Amino acid sequence: MNIILLGPPGAGKGTQARKLVDERNMVQLSTGDMLREARTSGTDMGKRVAEVMDKGHLVTDEIVIGLIREKLESGQKNGGYIFDGFPRTLAQADALGALLAEEHQTLHAVIEMQVDDAELVARITGRSTCASCGEVYHDVTKPVPADGKCTNCGGTSFTRRADDTEEALKTRLLAYYKQTSPLIGYYYAKGDLKSVDGLASMDDVASAIKTALA
Ligand code: AMP
Repeated sequence: MNIILLGPPGAGKGTQARKLVDERNMVQLSTGDMLREARTSGTDMGKRVAEVMDKGHLVTDEIVIGLIREKLESGQKNGGYIFDGFPRTLAQADALGALLAEEHQTLHAVIEMQVDDAELVARITGRSTCASCGEVYHDVTKPVPADGKCTNCGGTSFTRRADDTEEALKTRLLAYYKQTSPLIGYYYAKGDLKSVDGLASMDDVASAIKTALA
């Protein structure tokens, strides 16, 4: 089963993708994570994308399609792929369709995670992540435990993303509405779209996704 998690920044795509990885042995393909990895590796591509990402703009289609192509060609699909943060443009959506067809794969569903914009700002500006395992915390709703240890892996280092500021978030939201939200209509027309309420609790969102995938 291959699925797309679609929604604005802060909708909870990464959190739900991690649950699906644990529960269904699926493979999470997050272009955001791949790009963050590329920038820390200091490659030419990493340097080029760092500035674009920090400002909240989208990286070129060519780069992200190339990253996804590499992963699909490496063939490690286990229980199927979760596309998290990809596609983000119509060109990327077309490219994904072609890449999946080349690999004799199909798309099972596109899960649209609906949230309101004020909630996104609150969610994103308090966000931090365990540097070892990626567990996501929030200053108000899920603070890092008092002993400073990640509840998932015991890690003690937590990072905040450079683009999780109010300023960059505005740009990211604009990019979402201008470039990514047309994908909702695109996948609706193809008959693949399922919508869930992303504002529900993490477990309720997970069970809504489970129902949508049944
Ligand atoms: P994310 O972790 O999905 O929020 O992505 C963080 C940043 O990486 C985005 O704001 C973009 O700058 C870049 N990025 C991630 N995925 C894509 C994509 N599919 N297309 C273009 N840029 C992307």
